[in-house]
Amino acid sequence: MFTVIKKNHLIATLIIAIILITFSVITINTAMAHKRLPKLGYTIVIDAGHGGFDAGVAGVATKVKEADLNLKVAKKLEKCLTEYGFDVIMTRTSGNGLYGLHTKNRKKRDMEARARIIHDAKPDAVVSIHMNYFVQSKQRGAQVFYKKNNERGKELAKNIQEVLGLNLEHCNRLFLSGDYYIVNCSDYPSVIVECGFLSNAYDEQLLISDEYQQKLAYYITLGIMKFFDIDPYQIISL
Ligand SMILES: [Zn+2]
Repeated sequence: MFTVIKKNHLIATLIIAIILITFSVITINTAMAHKRLPKLGYTIVIDAGHGGFDAGVAGVATKVKEADLNLKVAKKLEKCLTEYGFDVIMTRTSGNGLYGLHTKNRKKRDMEARARIIHDAKPDAVVSIHMNYFVQSKQRGAQVFYKKNNERGKELAKNIQEVLGLNLEHCNRLFLSGDYYIVNCSDYPSVIVECGFLSNAYDEQLLISDEYQQKLAYYITLGIMKFFDIDPYQIISL
């Protein structure tokens, strides 16, 4: 009798041990699959330009709305930056503008709401996403703008423009200072990335593609990392 009980006890212990080991292996595998890179401690505000009643410019061939493309690129950029360990705050995550219900001065209230988000976030950098448009349809390529006399903003613009220029075709433009509300509204390093020209049918074709939007997000991320002196390969190997 004693032997039988002891044997049953041994079998039960073995079964529990096997269950525990199996569970541990599954847990470790799941944890590995969802491994996130460590937080870098930098906060980036991403601003998808326009939205709501303000659609921005329209594509010359497909009439695609700039506001929609801005949001698509902004969301991809959010995902990419987050994966690399940045904290991200978005000014908008839907097609709506930020002007609320009142119908008067919508543009002004929309821009002021974006400025409030930036001031509240106290970010390390601000990146506003737009699409360009010019009467001469041959103009192509992404171009980065910063606030005049803001040295850190200029440095951020330089780094993003360099990475975009090195990695994207038809992108040999210079980064420039620009008189825009979103870069002027604070002293945080702020840039506008005009991702390409919707007045050029070839650029438009690229800008509406998921793959090119992904490339833009990735290279803007690398430019931001370069600005902060972060080596992306070092992070990946952590
Ligand atoms: Zn715009």
